[in-house]
Order: sequence, then structure tokens, then C-alpha cells
Amino acid sequence: MKIIYNDSKGHIFTGIISIFIISFFIIAILLINMNYFIKSENNEIIANDNLKYITEDYIKNIEILSYDTLEEISENAVKSKNPVQDVNKEFKKVLNDKLAQKNIEYNNLYNVNIVSDVISIENGDKPEFLKVKVFLNIKKENNEFNEIIDTKTTVLNLKDPLGLLLCEGSTYNETNVIYEDSLSNYLSNRNIENSEHYINATGPLNIKKCPYDPYIHHGDNQTLSDCIKNGYYHESSDGSCYLCRLEAKSTCPHYGFETFIIPRDNLSNNLSSVSSSDHVVFFENYPGNSYNYSDSRIIFLDNSHRLKYGL
Ligand SMILES: [Zn+2]
Ligand SMILES: [Zn+2]
Repeated sequence: MKIIYNDSKGHIFTGIISIFIISFFIIAILLINMNYFIKSENNEIIANDNLKYITEDYIKNIEILSYDTLEEISENAVKSKNPVQDVNKEFKKVLNDKLAQKNIEYNNLYNVNIVSDVISIENGDKPEFLKVKVFLNIKKENNEFNEIIDTKTTVLNLKDPLGLLLCEGSTYNETNVIYEDSLSNYLSNRNIENSEHYINATGPLNIKKCPYDPYIHHGDNQTLSDCIKNGYYHESSDGSCYLCRLEAKSTCPHYGFETFIIPRDNLSNNLSSVSSSDHVVFFENYPGNSYNYSDSRIIFLDNSHRLKYGL
């Protein structure tokens, strides 16, 4: 009886041990699996993060290279005095070449395959920013980024070749276009009265945005004088946009810029000639009366520009 009891107790004990051992194995297998699952999921996240980082970095490079492309195109136009024939086409060609170099660099650095193709460059809401569309496919192992991306680039501090392209014989220094006889000849060829006031005229060379906004305050104190001294550009629906300036278009349907062309010095304050806003000088050619903005310096202004700038 005692033995039987011990026997049955022994069976129960063995049974409990067996259950423990089996449970231990099941739990161990589950833990190993779970660990493997977590690990592989982490690897996936790391790979995705890696691709995300590479893509973000690449898009930043598109923005930088877009600016470099515009800089290269505008410098060429200024130096050669040849207008760009088709700025969209030229931009695509130059930027695609730059991106092809970048793609090789990225392949070496990050082991990614990149296919990129510039689709377009066009005006944005503000004339100082342009929109650049690029098709982008980036592959790294089993991860892929595939999208048409919209980036933007600024035109601030780029050279404006418009005056140089329109007026044969004009020259430039670091900051200004120097017209000598070229602008007065351009105007007299268009039968503009008093075109001689624009002998030795100057205009700005680099796109700088006028900080005196709203523009109506240009009449306050030294504001206009300071604006002209710095060669600032203003938003204008009548003025040419940056892309059209590269093509030597003195007017265009896009929202663009206007800047002042400064007639020669020592003109008296009771004269008239074509109004000094660049889109009027180069294209519309309507007259304005002299406005004295500093000692012995005048510009010509029509009524609508007087109103716009509060002068
Ligand atoms: Zn201004
Ligand atoms: Zn335009």
C-alpha cells in the first residue's frame, strides 16, 4: 500500500517534471522566434530609415544643383551675350548631367541605384522662387523610392542678363550693367524722344529683392535712394520673370520682376523721357517725368509707377 502510494506519487512527480520540461521548450522556441521576428523587423526599419535618409539627402542635392545649373546658364548668357534659346530644355540638359554625376557618387557611397530625370522648371507663386520637377527612383536592396518630386530653387543673387542681351555694346562690372551708348541707341532705334538722357545709364546686374515692402514706402526719407543704390528688384506682373530674362524677353505672361534703369547723372529736374522701370524702358516705352531721388540724380516716372512706389 505504501509502495503503491509512493509509486503513484512518483508518477505524479514525473508527470509534473515532464510538463515543466515541455513548457520550457515551448517557451524557449517562442522566445527564439519572437526575438528573430523583432530582429528582422528592426533590420527592415533600419533599411527603410537608411533609404529615407539617402532620399532626403539626394533631394537637398537636387535643390543645390538646380541653383548651380541656373548660375551656370546665366553666367554663360552674361559672358557670351547670347540669349538662351529654350531655357527649359537647357536647364534639363545641364541639371541631368549634374545629377548623372551625383548618381554615380551615391552608388559608390551608399550602394544605391538611382534613376533621375528632370521634367521641368517653371515659375512659382513668387518670382524669386522657381519650381523644379524631377522623376526619381532610388533602389537599395529590397527597398525602393519611386516618385515625381517637386523641389524649389531661388534666383536671388543670380545674374540678370536682360539688359546686356538687348543692348549691343553694353558692358558690366561686378554689380552693374553699364550701358554707355547702347541703351540710348536701342531707344532711338525705337523712336523714343529724349533717348539721350540714357547715355551712360546703369542698371543692376544681380537679382536682389527689395526689402522695402510694401513698396508704397519708397517715398519715405532715403528709401528710394537706398533701393536704387543697392539695385533692388521688385515684384511686378508687367516685368519679365527670371526664366524669360535668360531668353532676352523684355515682357512675358508670368509674374516677374522690375528694377530701375538709372539715367546719366547731372540731369536737371524738369525733363521727360521713357519711364525708368526696366520693362517700360525695354518694351512698353511710355514716358515719365523726372523725379529727383538724390543730389543731381533723377529717374523718370510715369503716374502708375509713382503710385506703386509712393513717390
Ligand atoms: Zn525698392
Ligand atoms: Zn516669363
